[in-house]
Amino acid sequence: MSVVDQAFVTLATNDIYCQGALVLGQSLRNHRLTRRLVVLITPQVSGPLRVILSKVFHEVIEVNLIDSEDYVHLAFLKRPELGVTLTKLHCWRLTHYSKCVFLEADTLVLSNIDELFDRGEFSAASDPGWPDCFNSGVFVFQPSLETHQRLLQHATKHGSFDGADQGLLNSFFSNWSTADIGKHLPFIYNLTSNTAYTYSPAFKQFGSSAKIVHFLGSTKPWNYKYNPQTGSVSEQSLGLGSQHQVSFLNLWWGTYQSSVLPLYKSIRTVETHV
Ligand code: UDP
Repeated sequence: MSVVDQAFVTLATNDIYCQGALVLGQSLRNHRLTRRLVVLITPQVSGPLRVILSKVFHEVIEVNLIDSEDYVHLAFLKRPELGVTLTKLHCWRLTHYSKCVFLEADTLVLSNIDELFDRGEFSAASDPGWPDCFNSGVFVFQPSLETHQRLLQHATKHGSFDGADQGLLNSFFSNWSTADIGKHLPFIYNLTSNTAYTYSPAFKQFGSSAKIVHFLGSTKPWNYKYNPQTGSVSEQSLGLGSQHQVSFLNLWWGTYQSSVLPLYKSIRTVETHV
């Protein structure tokens, strides 16, 4: 069953984050994909990467960091670090879809997650740093030009308390923590690593039920050294938090090797034949 008016959406503003988007897209395809796949990109993404993205995603949509609307300019100039944030907000403009699930490019899907489309806007999982806030790496939303405009106006008026999209979205959808438990996604839909002492036993108990892993933080899977012979990332490159995620990191790299690298080879073959 294919549902054409619903989509999984991600964002990549440069070629590096495109690696993450490609692995995410392939991980969705590897688990009985029934929705459309959309990637939002910005002009910085190179031509070859656009070709490769179009092999995985049904739609590769270029969006601009600075919209032509004045209020976006203003918000952008006042808070230049919100550039990526404002780019993510473009997802509300995908009004040819009735409902979407946004997944950041540093997430990996481990099983079919179609049940997320049964949830309403705005559904997300708790942030591990401040659980009364949601983490904006995975969320269910309903595209709407009106919501998009209200979000931009909110950004212009109030900025973002963390300088990124998460602060902005949390103050916009401010009743998330109390209004409707149905909009709280279980943590297994946005599993992040954590060094709190309570994490290890919980991970041992529940880690195998994870459906979406989120490689939150400045070190991304593509920053690790990976040995294709052993099928494992180098132990030396692992930090404390990432010890829990080693099997997920290996899975990310396994997907990259088996499903993304061949796409690069296929475009090189085409290039050598012209
Ligand atoms: N992103 C991007 N380019 C950037 C930074 C971020 O495309 O230079 C997008 C990408 O989808 C990424 C998301 O914004 O996954 C959030 O950024 P990041 O993953 O760095 O934040 P974290 O998940 O660590 O909070």
